[in-house]
Amino acid sequence: MKLLEDKIASEGLVLPGNILKVDQFLNHQIDPMFMNEMGKEFAKLFKDDGITKIITVESSGIAPAVLTGLQMEVPVVFARKHKSLTLNDNIYSSDVYSYTKQTNNKISIDKRFINSTDNILVIDDFLANGQAVLGLLDIAKKAGANVNGVGIVIEKSFQKGHKIIKDSGIHLESLARIASLENEKVTFE
Ligand code: 5GP
Repeated sequence: MKLLEDKIASEGLVLPGNILKVDQFLNHQIDPMFMNEMGKEFAKLFKDDGITKIITVESSGIAPAVLTGLQMEVPVVFARKHKSLTLNDNIYSSDVYSYTKQTNNKISIDKRFINSTDNILVIDDFLANGQAVLGLLDIAKKAGANVNGVGIVIEKSFQKGHKIIKDSGIHLESLARIASLENEKVTFE
């Protein structure tokens, strides 16, 4: 998506450790009009996938997920993050290693909000090593739900996540694909 690439190029900041900071429009301040354009783009890309529900992870996945849900007219569920978890029969949960925080989190979704009749689209802000998306896929599997698509705002294609999701055969779409962040410079695929 050209508009997104332009915004990353003008407002993004490359931090050590291959981290792209985009808190002007995605990770801290949110540009809702622009987010809505991304929602429209995801809705177009996944229109033939029979999506009935969108899932994401709090917190930065929520904005793109909600704007996509608005366009597709389907509900949006965000997985909650926990440091540790007391035993709870009412949730599906999965362990996720956080790339940016370098800590382990459990993420979970209440059993009332995901089930075997759902055809799911996973939306997230970034795809790096794929741990967040894999955690959501694991939760969907535990619920017996189908995952028909994965939509990513910014994919760092040089990290492992792209290949893992592609190899799983799930329809993957990323609105911006970054080939490298070397020398503090963003290079797109
Ligand atoms: P993964 O689980 O694919 O390794 O990493 C994805 C998650 O880590 C995303 O949900 C996002 O919150 C965070 N993340 C990974 N790389 C970046 C990055 O370069 N910039 C920002 N802002 N977040 C990132």
